[in-house]
Amino acid sequence: MAAVDVGGTRTKSALVDGDGAEVVSRTGPTPRGLDQPGALPRAVEAAFAELVELGARGAAAPEVVALGVVVPGLVDDRAGVARYSANLGWRDEPVVAPLEETVHVPVALGHDVRAGLLAESRWGAAQSARHALFLPVGTGIAGALMLDGHVISADGWSGELGHVVVEPDGPVCGCGARGCLEAVASAAAIEAAYAACSGERVGADLVAGRVAAGEPAAQAVWTRAVEALARAVVTAVTLTGVDLVLVGGGLARSGEVLLSPLREAVESRLTFQRRPRITGAALGDRAGCLGSACLAWDLV
Ligand SMILES: [Zn+2]
Repeated sequence: MAAVDVGGTRTKSALVDGDGAEVVSRTGPTPRGLDQPGALPRAVEAAFAELVELGARGAAAPEVVALGVVVPGLVDDRAGVARYSANLGWRDEPVVAPLEETVHVPVALGHDVRAGLLAESRWGAAQSARHALFLPVGTGIAGALMLDGHVISADGWSGELGHVVVEPDGPVCGCGARGCLEAVASAAAIEAAYAACSGERVGADLVAGRVAAGEPAAQAVWTRAVEALARAVVTAVTLTGVDLVLVGGGLARSGEVLLSPLREAVESRLTFQRRPRITGAALGDRAGCLGSACLAWDLV
């Protein structure tokens, strides 16, 4: 099965077997100019051709009978169209139809985070779960929901937890609203808040290390982010009834420095609701690519 994950900066591709193992894998920079009509399917076609060639050299490579593609932004999986990407610039870009003409196998298009949740449910930390929220916290914050065993798409509009307002008077978000979760608790927001109060610009990973070491400025910034995440998680749990929350993305690398206070903050806000298990995602930055393989498997 061929899998391609077109990310904001890097594109990952792999030949994946039925157990979720990447038999052949490649990571390279995402090509520029994907805002031009037709550029996205052409870039995926090039990644696919490279995979097939690499696979032909290896005896153990799985047969390529379908291609799964995932991209960020708004994705209409049913129509096979990448609707909108703020970072990469495409608008209403047909992906499945042009690719099927050139790669000559069935093609599935999906959203990187929703597909990542599918992969977590098949091969990662959400195995045997029927309801889950996948919450990748990185440069931005995304979300994906699985309810009653189905990953929810709503024509591509579901899961935008990063743009739930958690601080009505908070910082302005990239989307134009004020106080979105992403503007308070993303890795980028944590870095900016820490720089504002300490005068030192360091990555969120380092801020997490300073939290663990007991530095007051880092702890203040971290607590604000954790409280914001807890507000959003409680909203999601109350609305959907999920009993598993998988935290992923770059910030999840801080492990219990993030998860432990997040569990406490969520617990303290819940009243009657079912208590969700809150844990780290298992597949890391491979989730999207493995998720695209899931979509491809589901075609055949
Ligand atoms: Zn926003």
